[in-house]
Amino acid sequence: MEKTLIILKPSCVQRALVGQVINRFQRKGLTIAGMKMMQLDEQILREHYAHLVDKPFFPSLLRSMMATPVIVMCLVGKEVVSVVRAMVGATNSRVAAPGTIRGDYGMSGQENIVHASDSPENGDIEVARFFKPDEIFTYQPITTPAIYNDQERNY
Ligand code: UDP
Ligand code: MG
Repeated sequence: MEKTLIILKPSCVQRALVGQVINRFQRKGLTIAGMKMMQLDEQILREHYAHLVDKPFFPSLLRSMMATPVIVMCLVGKEVVSVVRAMVGATNSRVAAPGTIRGDYGMSGQENIVHASDSPENGDIEVARFFKPDEIFTYQPITTPAIYNDQERNY
């Protein structure tokens, strides 16, 4: 089953948008397979943002991501990675399309409310980085037949 890692960043926590962002994912029909609050540290962020450690903005990104505890979530659904990336919008909130999470709630390239995995492979890797196996739950929401047709449901 395809998984994606969501981080409700300190910008989301500080601005009291946690409920609204989670509501968007639930309204869409995605299933929450795991969710918890945690304080990120430099070690996990150096792994998670390994592709950015040499960028000049990395120290600022570290401070930003450690500013408050965050909420981490694992969402599942058919093609969940691409569905969620479309809901999140472009990295820079100022150019993210209206209707997306970043487009509706943000004004910053860095303080952009949420993280979402960018490929199914990274979804698996990132969920394993932030959750223990027994923190991820497999269950079938009772709404499933109203969300997917017979073929789609076998994702
Ligand atoms: N970021 C930044 N400045 C940049 C590019 C990225 O501060 O020029 C931050 C921003 O918070 C972004 C995160 O680094 O969400 C990870 O960057 P990535 O390119 O992976 O963007 P994303 O996948 O989050 O859209
Ligand atoms: Mg990324």
